Parts: sequence; structure tokens; C-alpha cells
Amino acid sequence: MEKYLAALKKNRLKSTPRRRAVLDIFLRKEKYLGPYRVRELLLQKKINVGLPSVYRILHELEQAGILIEVARADKQLYYGLCRMPEKEHHHFICTSCNRVQEVDFCNFGQIAEFIEKNLKGRVKRHLLHIEGVCAACR
Ligand SMILES: [Zn+2]
Ligand SMILES: [Zn+2]
Ligand SMILES: [Zn+2]
Repeated sequence: MEKYLAALKKNRLKSTPRRRAVLDIFLRKEKYLGPYRVRELLLQKKINVGLPSVYRILHELEQAGILIEVARADKQLYYGLCRMPEKEHHHFICTSCNRVQEVDFCNFGQIAEFIEKNLKGRVKRHLLHIEGVCAACR
């Protein structure tokens, strides 16, 4: 929880009970969740937050690098917890159990080099979407 509170502070977001409750939900689950499910889980904790507020909180936590947006074919918004928000890295999403795992590896440098050399461009950022089946689901 400590590092997430630090990330909130760094992004000038107050550590409100609602934001902490959302964080707590993600800390307990390894899986990615949609806003509806997050709202249900908040209600189970007797915290009644309207859906627009849930969307806002999730977006704020995503902007702070605490949550990652998970792209799915149904085009709905889903979020998963990033367990190392202080570092540039990627995520492996299990399409079977919705688990989100940290991928502390990136060889994008080679692609950036290719672009600089062949397209004479300069890469500023990259997104990598990796999905498959996790070890438990295989
Ligand atoms: Zn992460
Ligand atoms: Zn899985
Ligand atoms: Zn990368």
C-alpha cells in the first residue's frame, strides 16, 4: 500500500477513503476488473459510490500509474493493478482467468533503433499488449 500512497501523492491526488478502498480491492485480487464490478465490490464494503465516480477514480489511478488499462475485444474499460508503478515495464494478461502479471523485461530498444535508422524518426513511447494463458490456466 505504501508505494501506491506515494504514487498518489506524487500525482497530487489525496489519499481519500474511496481511492484507498478501490486500491484495496485491486490489492486483494490479481485480476483485472471493470467499473461495474468495482462498484459492486465497493458496495460489499458498504461504500456507495456512483458509477461516474467509480470511472473517475479508476481513471485517476490509471493516470497515477497505479492501474493499467486492459484492452479487450468487447471495447469495455477494464483495469488491473500494476505492482511496480515506479518502473517502465509491461504486463501479461491471462484471457482465461483475467490475471495480470508483471513483465519486468523489454527489448523495445531494438525496435527503436530500427525506427531511428530506417525511418529516421524518434520514438517517444510505446505500448505493448501481451495476452495469453497463465501458468495456472495452461
Ligand atoms: Zn506493472
Ligand atoms: Zn490464467
Ligand atoms: Zn517496453
